[in-house]
Amino acid sequence: MKYILRFLLIPIIATVFKSVAVSINKNLVIRSATPTGDTTWDNWNGQVHVTPSAIFKPSSLDDLKDIVKLAKQKGKTIRCAAQGHSVSKLSYTQNYLVIVTELTQVTVQKDPKYDWTVTAEAGTPLSKLDDVLRKHDPPLTLDSETVYDSFRVSGVIAVGAHGAKTSSGIMSDQLVSMQIVTASGDVVTFSEEIYKQEFNAAKVNLGLFGIIYSVTFRVQPMYNLRMTDTLYPAKEWIKPQNIKNILEVSDGIEIFYWPFNGFNQGDPSHPDSSKDLIWLINFLLSNPLLTPNITASIWDTRVAIAGNTSTVLQAPDAFHYVPSVESLKVSLWEIGFKIDSDFSNVATEISFIIQTVNFRIIKSTEALLSTAFNHDPKALYFRLDLISAYGNPDWEEFIQLLGQRYFTNKYNAKPHWGKEWDTKPEIISYLSKALKEPIKQFEKVRAKYDPNKMFFDNKSLQDIFRGALGPQS
Ligand SMILES: Cc1cc2nc3c(=O)[nH]c(=O)nc-3n(C[C@H](O)[C@H](O)[C@H](O)COP(=O)(O)OP(=O)(O)OC[C@H]3O[C@@H](n4cnc5c(N)ncnc54)[C@H](O)[C@@H]3O)c2cc1C
Repeated sequence: MKYILRFLLIPIIATVFKSVAVSINKNLVIRSATPTGDTTWDNWNGQVHVTPSAIFKPSSLDDLKDIVKLAKQKGKTIRCAAQGHSVSKLSYTQNYLVIVTELTQVTVQKDPKYDWTVTAEAGTPLSKLDDVLRKHDPPLTLDSETVYDSFRVSGVIAVGAHGAKTSSGIMSDQLVSMQIVTASGDVVTFSEEIYKQEFNAAKVNLGLFGIIYSVTFRVQPMYNLRMTDTLYPAKEWIKPQNIKNILEVSDGIEIFYWPFNGFNQGDPSHPDSSKDLIWLINFLLSNPLLTPNITASIWDTRVAIAGNTSTVLQAPDAFHYVPSVESLKVSLWEIGFKIDSDFSNVATEISFIIQTVNFRIIKSTEALLSTAFNHDPKALYFRLDLISAYGNPDWEEFIQLLGQRYFTNKYNAKPHWGKEWDTKPEIISYLSKALKEPIKQFEKVRAKYDPNKMFFDNKSLQDIFRGALGPQS
């Protein structure tokens, strides 16, 4: 069994009315579209504050259909939220906000093609999915997952989230099928067998196809992962051949760099990054330019003390090696770009951002709006991931500087849809160009299922699509 090797690199530079239970309009019978009565919703770190005209928390498929029927009747648009950990404004709406966290049924079934599959309602947390699969006879697991297990299945699928396993790519690529309640109020099943082109659009849909009701993943027998934590001198280790070598003997790598971890707090001279180590575990926050003492302290007391370790864990425990810490609010920014065959651009960029970061390497996907979209199945994507304490005054300036480097023809990098990407206007025209072809293909499918744009209530996405498709769109 290969193992996941994680190196800790640098953390960071850096509703409304309470009725409508029954409403009858010709053929429309709306039984269960009842708003919660809440008037506001905030995402996890408080960065996104929504005051929609109604908030719904459906608990059945019929509820979803009725909410769509009600929206149609009242001329309202709909956006969805799951656990609310996205820090972009994808859930923002002034109309109907549908929060799917009450939809948590999970079933495991034998499958003629995939042996076993699991079907989870949209609001199922990954922790519950893991639990059901672990207790199944035989024990089962997904192939790769995000680090936090509090995320809900529709939330990670809609934005194209991923874990650290290189061969696995984005979680949407483990999907066998998904069911979406579209603008007509019908439940549409998307799968590779039914229509691959539409499935590739639906797999990362940003909530634009309708309300995801359920997703079905192929699963595999439970397996263990050895997680090896190693500390290397950063400047010496970051070479293309070292990166290539480590990937050859790993299923996935995660590299963290903790800025100024080599800073000697007793030495008043200027912080010297040449003494820094890269490491494998954990994330940290703070602005190194302002606070080398803090980052050095965290390194000394939390990371260096653990040293090099190697542990065998069941796969889900390895995926979620950092437990969800809901109270620790951070800002997040992540981009991905295609890796050169000799890994030279990876080594160059790790060296460049050594005053910065965490990275993972994942394979490409044919999911059209994924930031790792590529028809070449062998292409690998570099995921540069920044985390900082929420409210860091230098965060905006820092990610803007990095955006200027990566949102260029040279890298053609794309931002993670669930992290910060919609805060600066320049990103709109850049993404219109960078995603022009995939958006054209995506739009054909989107327009088929939502011609009147019930689910297209997001200004940034509207502007990106308009830029890619022309003003008539
Ligand atoms: C601390 C932290 C760690 C993270 N780690 C990782 C990581 O390891 N890997 C990674 O790739 N990402 C990571 N992310 C990003 C994360 O994966 C995404 O933000 C993901 O969307 C979170 O899931 P959620 O359930 O909170 O979704 P939400 O934020 O609630 O939803 C995201 C979007 O999906 C759409 N959506 C959700 N449910 C539905 C539905 N039923 N129907 C239609 N549309 C829907 C909506 O547009 C919504 O805005 C991390 C984020 C944080 C804050």
